[in-house]
Amino acid sequence: MNLQLQDSDEFDLINTCFKNKAKQRQDVLIGIGDDAAFMNASSPFLAMAVDTLVEGVHFLPNANPADIGYKSLAVNLSDLAAVGAEPAWMLLALTMPTPDKIWTEKFSAGLFELAEQFNVQLIGGDTTRGPLTVTVQVTGYLPSAEVAIARRGAKVGDKIYVSGTLGDAGLGLAVAKGNGEFLSSEDKQYVLQRLHRPTPRVNVGMALRGIASSAIDISDGLLVDIGHLLAANQVGARIDADKLPLSSALNDSLVENEAKKLALTAGDDYELCFTVPANKESLMLARLEEKKVASYCIGEIIAKTGIEITHFSGELSSQGFKHW
Ligand code: ADP
Ligand code: MG
Repeated sequence: MNLQLQDSDEFDLINTCFKNKAKQRQDVLIGIGDDAAFMNASSPFLAMAVDTLVEGVHFLPNANPADIGYKSLAVNLSDLAAVGAEPAWMLLALTMPTPDKIWTEKFSAGLFELAEQFNVQLIGGDTTRGPLTVTVQVTGYLPSAEVAIARRGAKVGDKIYVSGTLGDAGLGLAVAKGNGEFLSSEDKQYVLQRLHRPTPRVNVGMALRGIASSAIDISDGLLVDIGHLLAANQVGARIDADKLPLSSALNDSLVENEAKKLALTAGDDYELCFTVPANKESLMLARLEEKKVASYCIGEIIAKTGIEITHFSGELSSQGFKHW
């Protein structure tokens, strides 16, 4: 008897949408197709992160699959950015109700669009049935242990910086939910892009190696995330709400206090928030300018715990996005 082996739907989907799209990096000996991937790492110092996006929790049920693919990697690269790592490889666990090739092809186009920008190779994963859930795990390189940027390290007197405008994704979420009548079509497009396709600040994180005293990426809202950073260092912060960088989309469409409130509390911007000792501030600014990346000083670390906010008169009912 001659038994013809047939590719299951699952393998056909993996081959078409993932295996045949993955670019080959020099440091990957075996990628998709074996029981495990083998790498020949060029540095022994590696940073790893994993994040899951769940339909109905992290993206709306009608979300564009290409955006989901893009964002599932972007949120992970943002975590690598926060520690100053250079992205190298990713694993993908994809759970969906049925093996939907059309959906997966679109998803894969968004995923690889970003992967190519950062030279990240997909080296393996898992495909299962269940409610739509995307888990991406990433690994990146650090040249040495000393230059990694941790949450711990901020000291009283350090300046607090962010890498870009805040609150855009929060406004984008309002638009995605159909509450954006008061925005111009250009502003709508801009905030939706910020929500669906956040830019991981990998070049900022790498430029801050050995300079920033601590860093975190802003996924759940500035106040919540800076709160994690402060807790790790048992210090407080003074933030000047007049210094929060706001896009023209926010300034055009919201009154000042509402714009500041979104910038303080809305999640999903994936900008970096980092601290710099005063004596390294000019070196930091020179490095970031050389790389043509923006940074904005929004306050400083103080000894008194808690967050003191100046130039803001609104009420803060919620500090940011809660996971549970
Ligand atoms: P195993 O049963 O040995 O875990 P699988 O049948 O789950 O292997 O997967 C076969 C190969 O395809 C493995 O190399 C795995 O890493 C890869 N793979 C499965 N799903 C994905 C995916 N969604 N993205 C990338 N690679 C995947
Ligand atoms: Mg498996």
